Amino acid sequence: MYVKLFQYSSVAGLYIHIPFCKSRCSYCDFHSGVQLTLLDRFEDALCTELTSRVSYLKNDPLETIYFGGGTPSLLSTEHLSAIFESIQSHWDISSCNEITLEANPDDLSEEQLKELSELPINRLSIGIQSFNDNELKLLRRRHTAQQAVDAVKRAQKYFSNISIDLMYGLPEQTISSWENTISEALALNIQHVSAYHLTYEEGTLLERKRREGRILPVLEEESVTMYRLLQRKLKEKGIEQYEISNFAIPGFHSRHNSSYWEGIRYLGIGPSAHSFDGESRQWNIANTLQYITGIEQGTPHFEKEVLSETDKYNEMIMISLRTTNGISLERVEKEFGTNTKKELIKQSARFIDAGIMLLEKNRLHLSSEGLFLSDGIITDLMQEQ
Ligand code: SF4
Repeated sequence: MYVKLFQYSSVAGLYIHIPFCKSRCSYCDFHSGVQLTLLDRFEDALCTELTSRVSYLKNDPLETIYFGGGTPSLLSTEHLSAIFESIQSHWDISSCNEITLEANPDDLSEEQLKELSELPINRLSIGIQSFNDNELKLLRRRHTAQQAVDAVKRAQKYFSNISIDLMYGLPEQTISSWENTISEALALNIQHVSAYHLTYEEGTLLERKRREGRILPVLEEESVTMYRLLQRKLKEKGIEQYEISNFAIPGFHSRHNSSYWEGIRYLGIGPSAHSFDGESRQWNIANTLQYITGIEQGTPHFEKEVLSETDKYNEMIMISLRTTNGISLERVEKEFGTNTKKELIKQSARFIDAGIMLLEKNRLHLSSEGLFLSDGIITDLMQEQ
């Protein structure tokens, strides 16, 4: 039986990975490096890849563009203009509702912001992480709390759609310092907040320090308290939760991230970038020099995986249950059959009985308590390969 992964609408997203940073943060395992001398060759390779992969999106109009990294705000206006020129030679971007650039506070000078606002970019996602200077030092961020506040205030003169990233569950972070970080963020009247619990990723400085006993992870009860505090304080301010880690005032949810969750086709350009066409995923090599030389020599390095029916079902569970909308049972029945729908309802019964999942209006979704436990619930509901 042929089953589509999602009933995606005929729009598409474009993700562009900028793999450069001025320095490495202590918690980060994203693909990025500090060899800024590669920037010119990288820009050429990126535009070449873009041109060679236009057909991937099958003429679907672009709805969102997202510059992620790494640190896209490190790019000069000349580099960004050249990338936009390349995009616009293939797509009409007037249909794009959202064009986001990830930025670090230390890059956002008045001059840089003015230049960015003259490009088609209409949304900034600023990596702040904390408004506590000790925590920022531990994370090896390049800004102080005050510099972050100043950068957001400057950015608001040029952009009316701003998201900030925050982190909780940091070693030695107290409930009161987290509460203060949330309050500082809310005082800035931004439109969107993404807040992530620290994970100790293999190969990072923080993971090594934890292994050596030089830092202590927070207790699980503290993590739960911090998450509930986040949910409560943002809700009081009218910032609605729409995904495990994402909150927005109405009308300002990230369309780009939502398109990942809704299964919309997207093209990822640059080293380590992932692409999805409804039936398969592919991802570029996570090595900037090899990415560039592969493109220069006409032999791009990437891997591809065609999704099995089980993969498609598991992806739907994993993606949908992360959102507050949850899973449509009508869709499960339509795409995977009546028996699969019945089995899902049966498996969900114990979570519903425990009050961490709700069945409402023919949709299964996690309660606000359940969202914090989503990893375990999602794993339990997935099918075995
Ligand atoms: S967190 Fe951001 S700025 Fe820091 S190393 Fe990772 S990608 Fe670079």
